[in-house]
Amino acid sequence: MSNSEKLYLVIPCYNEQEVLYETTKRLTEKMNSLISQQLISEESKILYVNDGSKDSTWKIIEELHENNSLIQGVNLARNRGHQNALLAGLMTAKEYADMVISMDADLQDDINVVDEFVKKYYEGNDIVYGVRSARKKDTFFKKFTAQGFYKLMLLMGVDLVYNHADYRLMSKRSLDNLKDFREVNLFLRGIVPQIGYQSAIVEYERNERFAGESKYPLKKMLSFAMDGITSFSVKPIRMITTVGFLIFLASILMAIWSVIQHFRGVTIQGWTSTIVSIWAIGGLQILAIGIVGEYIGKIYLETKDRPRYIIEKYLK
Ligand code: UDP
Ligand code: MG
Repeated sequence: MSNSEKLYLVIPCYNEQEVLYETTKRLTEKMNSLISQQLISEESKILYVNDGSKDSTWKIIEELHENNSLIQGVNLARNRGHQNALLAGLMTAKEYADMVISMDADLQDDINVVDEFVKKYYEGNDIVYGVRSARKKDTFFKKFTAQGFYKLMLLMGVDLVYNHADYRLMSKRSLDNLKDFREVNLFLRGIVPQIGYQSAIVEYERNERFAGESKYPLKKMLSFAMDGITSFSVKPIRMITTVGFLIFLASILMAIWSVIQHFRGVTIQGWTSTIVSIWAIGGLQILAIGIVGEYIGKIYLETKDRPRYIIEKYLK
């Protein structure tokens, strides 16, 4: 096996002007060290994807591209969100690379494990998942919500690698397969395990964002979790059916019980119980309609089959 295959690092960027210079500095060192050890080819690149940033992110990427032969840039025509931006980068890189590693612009994912990713690749793995072994540096809130997220996913039957986000290596072959997953509601960490192939896991510690702030506020995290579940599992709909059936059964029992009470001469006084059940059932119904609606909305978006991103420019 030739030990100098082409590696592309793919990094989606949304309003990352505070981190780009430092990130580039550290990644350039890393790439050069890998190149000098002949672990990767000299034609390896760092590919930034500008996801319609509102700050000077793209300007900085253009400037970095001018001065540093390792740097490439893709400019999306508008903001399409982290997952789509990442996909745009992966699909661009796969035309040139033998292997691609995706990571965040803020270097929260320890770049020293890149060596291990590459090693595992040469050992014959098509996909290498970066898994966070500790979340010491995440806030309690982030830790708590993230853990809830993975637990919920597992409960809903979505096949995920626990504590793996979007820090992973993929071979050219697996990226070719990724292309065939045509969904608009993109949830890469759910799709990638579906591809199959031999894979491996590399553990690392997640750092703090060294500058700028998280682009995943609570609202986005919730919608991301909802997408993750409804794109991969129909369990929620099945649960609704079960709950609906149980409630119906209970109401029949209640009816029988009140008829019996009536003949025993007991008038039912319970105003409270009536009101409570009306609210409870009403709430459940609205929730159920909401979940069903979520799926219908997905079907609507998927049937349109619109492009998931539009590339305005590629700085090669
Ligand atoms: N990102 C993006 N488009 C968006 C939001 C985020 O390309 O609409 C990028 C962002 O620049 C970063 C990565 O996705 O490189 C992950 O975002 P962030 O670090 O803010 O998320 P967190 O680590 O807080 O979950
Ligand atoms: Mg981050």
